[in-house]
Amino acid sequence: MKSTFRIINNNNNVRITKDKNGYDKIKLAKLGLVKFKTSKEYRELLCRGSDKNDSSVKIKHVTVKRQHGKYYAVFNVEYIYVPENIIGPLMQVGIDIGCTKLAVLSNGTEIPNLDLENETDNIIRHQKTMSHHQKGSIRYLEAQRLYNKAWEKFLNKRKDYYNKLVNYIVKNSSFVVVQNENIIAWKSNKYLSHSIQLNAPRDFMDRLEKKCQQEGVKFIKVPRVFPSTQKCSKCQKINENLKGIENLGIRDWDCPYCHTHHDRDLNAAINILNKGLEIVGTTVQ
Ligand SMILES: [Zn+2]
Repeated sequence: MKSTFRIINNNNNVRITKDKNGYDKIKLAKLGLVKFKTSKEYRELLCRGSDKNDSSVKIKHVTVKRQHGKYYAVFNVEYIYVPENIIGPLMQVGIDIGCTKLAVLSNGTEIPNLDLENETDNIIRHQKTMSHHQKGSIRYLEAQRLYNKAWEKFLNKRKDYYNKLVNYIVKNSSFVVVQNENIIAWKSNKYLSHSIQLNAPRDFMDRLEKKCQQEGVKFIKVPRVFPSTQKCSKCQKINENLKGIENLGIRDWDCPYCHTHHDRDLNAAINILNKGLEIVGTTVQ
């Protein structure tokens, strides 16, 4: 056996599972169940990554190394971070939605987009199988069943993530302002009858609005024409260099007037909050 090798986690073939005596073991494809030692925190993380119902932790791959007669398993884990509830006063928060991240809050919290590549690939795979069989045949129907299941999984994972984040924001806020940027990532494939919208900022915003209304949190939508991206949140002047679709790639910039250095999304989120406060007649913070 080579001293180092890597196993990619496909269909949960790398996971933590209980043996017949109820002890946690690492299940590795081909090697079977292996005893292991780690800290309580990592054990919990790995168990969550092995749980099909927990979409926030994913084991991507594991590298097994041999050193001084011992084996070490180094896990590559993807962990979707949902911020903990803050302790203290409720937030007045502006939110810049969509683009490279799902959202950036005016307090600096960044919320990443969900990685839906595996789920999307599954949908495409089953659609491809369907296209290779005669419509209505047993194989076609079986592929169709898996296709529908893959779609359900995709949508559930996204819904869970959005609901978690919406709950976090609404629970910790008294005033929420958004502006929908309407930039959407699509995935196309020749086997797919239509493109899949990977992340759905509009869906996230609708859920947020609904939840705010239910919980009595003030919710304001800033008009799309408001130049939240180009405006300097410090001196309020417009930076013309940021206009146009070709400048979407600029992630941070210096204000040509007051020379403040801005993160594009955070600056926009602060402007969105201030615009919302202006709309309801409160002075800028
Ligand atoms: Zn400025």
